[in-house]
Amino acid sequence: MRVLVVEDDAVLADGLVRSLRQAGYAVDLARDGLEADSALLTGVFDLLILDLGLPRLGGLEVLRRLRARDSRLPVLILSGRDGVEHRVRGLDLGADDYLAKPFALEELAARIRALMRRGHAGSPALLRHGPLAYDPAGRVAYIRDEPLEFSGRELAILELLLRRAGRRVSKEQLLGHLCEWAREMSANAIEVYVHRLRKKLEPAGIRISTVRGLGYCLEKEKWHDAPQQALVSSV
Ligand code: CA
Repeated sequence: MRVLVVEDDAVLADGLVRSLRQAGYAVDLARDGLEADSALLTGVFDLLILDLGLPRLGGLEVLRRLRARDSRLPVLILSGRDGVEHRVRGLDLGADDYLAKPFALEELAARIRALMRRGHAGSPALLRHGPLAYDPAGRVAYIRDEPLEFSGRELAILELLLRRAGRRVSKEQLLGHLCEWAREMSANAIEVYVHRLRKKLEPAGIRISTVRGLGYCLEKEKWHDAPQQALVSSV
């Protein structure tokens, strides 16, 4: 899941970006309306979090241009406490939800999850691979319908491997998928996360193979639908 945050208040932007990354989203930040507009023209995002009072180009105009391009990208507006009129205009222009400042990060997280569920209504809700199922909207992975604990970064890597199951995914692609996290991460860190994923997935017979020097591959049809007892005894 890739999120574009548009916010000119440095402190708020910093807090938003950090908490969204902790929740496992890949996050890009634009600090003014023009930067946001060009990011939306070139980048592929799953969600836009848009402040309204922005330098160079206002948030409502960013939204108007986005919808004029027929984009159906889910948009959540952040607005000042007294911005009722702006909120109404934002919703009229095609925003999906709004949150008045100041807000609790927990509420923002819940609204994002709700938007993602709605946004994915037209596409398959779950990515499946043998006994493994992943819900990208709810960010939960299941083995035979039992939820499994993964960190945000593990989930981000797992999601890309699942979307390309049976095909090779390079470390660079995985780093790119993690977006700005990649700045703090090395290829070695990817190895660590893949190692953790393997430990969690192998009891269910799901293998991530290493393509030497090239990357990783979530093996297709190599797993066997192991009987339930085998799974239980190996946990
Ligand atoms: Ca602002």
